[in-house]
Amino acid sequence: MWKNNVFNRPIKMQFTNKRKYKYFIFFMAILLIAVIALNFFKKIKRPNIILITIDAVRADHLSCYGYGRFTTPNIDKLAAGGALFLQAIAPSTDTYYSVPAIITSTYSHYHGIKDKRNALVNPLVPTFAEILSKNNYCTGLFSNGYSFSHIKGVDRGFGTFVVNGNIAADELTNISLKWLKSKGKRNFLLWIHYLEPHAPYTPPFPYGTLYIKDKFNTNDKNISIGSSDKTWGGLKIIPYIVAQNNITSVNYYISQYDGEIKFVDEQIGVLLDKLKVLKLDKNTLIVITADHGESLGEHNRYFQHGGMPFDALLHVPLVFKYEPLALKDKKITRQVSSADIFPTILEILKIKCPKAIYGKSLLGLIQGKTKNRDPYIFIKAQIIDHNLAYSLRTEKWKLIYSTKDKKYYLYDLKNDKDELNDVKDIKKAEFKFLSKKLDEWRDREESVVFSVDTPSFDRDAIEKLKSLGYL
Ligand SMILES: [Zn+2]
Repeated sequence: MWKNNVFNRPIKMQFTNKRKYKYFIFFMAILLIAVIALNFFKKIKRPNIILITIDAVRADHLSCYGYGRFTTPNIDKLAAGGALFLQAIAPSTDTYYSVPAIITSTYSHYHGIKDKRNALVNPLVPTFAEILSKNNYCTGLFSNGYSFSHIKGVDRGFGTFVVNGNIAADELTNISLKWLKSKGKRNFLLWIHYLEPHAPYTPPFPYGTLYIKDKFNTNDKNISIGSSDKTWGGLKIIPYIVAQNNITSVNYYISQYDGEIKFVDEQIGVLLDKLKVLKLDKNTLIVITADHGESLGEHNRYFQHGGMPFDALLHVPLVFKYEPLALKDKKITRQVSSADIFPTILEILKIKCPKAIYGKSLLGLIQGKTKNRDPYIFIKAQIIDHNLAYSLRTEKWKLIYSTKDKKYYLYDLKNDKDELNDVKDIKKAEFKFLSKKLDEWRDREESVVFSVDTPSFDRDAIEKLKSLGYL
């Protein structure tokens, strides 16, 4: 017994110490895990997203793209600390095709817009706002362009969706900022669409006066004013809807267009300043682009968009700015599509993309890790009388097929920037190769699986979407 007593005691004591020791180790392990987890979550804190689309802005009227007028000091500053894409191509020449392609990163055989009259985004195809919303992002869209309320489905995924065609860019910025301040500490996606550069060009004072008499106002032309519905073919007139006070000076309207761009740029400056004050500038990815460009006389079309997919209508600005990427005045010359914005945002957020999207992430290009790109960009546009133009663009060639005259047009973009000389009968091998590719894509586009007339899918269509990873 004694022996037992003697030996029991130390044994018990040993056990008690050991248990305390175990508790201690356990406690320390938990603490360590908590610290590591805290740091981990701090590191992977997802960025906020601000997407700014400016209606009808062509890249070559921004000073960061080399334009003579200093139209965009704020966008220039952003680009100087980010990445500027020198050859960004819109998916179409008007909002009704471009915006659905941007928000779904697909073309109409998936996103479902087959005609402006049937502007409804296929409800089974996810939009990037829906994906972000599912990932706990607070989402808001603010637009002063009514076209956003005409495309059914653009609002999907947005907790706040404000379309008000009666307000100007400054008020739009104000209500966007109010929303930004009210949404608490949650990650956010804010999309602002500024209509301003869209015709008619009527910037507020003083923006309308800035460029009327400057040194870029040389070689003016005067052309007559006429009916806009006949100008799709390039009738060399100023449409009635654009004309002001019977002014026929082309330079006058261009000075007003540039004034609108400057007005919007100042609003972007207001937004960026506020982001700094709110200490949101470091962790916010900012993307600036346009839904399409504007014809300012090319192919005898003045102050309009839509129609044949020439570069004046497709070449848009594209800027990415995100502090943690530590970019400095990065300029990217490869051809990219606005449909690439969606997968780029998701890659930066480390969120998985739907398999079937058309676009490819630009992060590799932005970080200089790759120069490889799919060389083909497809474009679809509505032309006169609800006919369509299908186009395939590489960095060297542009091939267009018009359903109006059932003809192909091939342009050499390196040697004929204005796309004036159709070379399909001279460059026969290139035409054969590219037209085969365009025809294949056109076949798919023409078999749109969804339309507003028959707002349901047949079984094959559902299976197809499933196999492509949508459902
Ligand atoms: Zn537009």
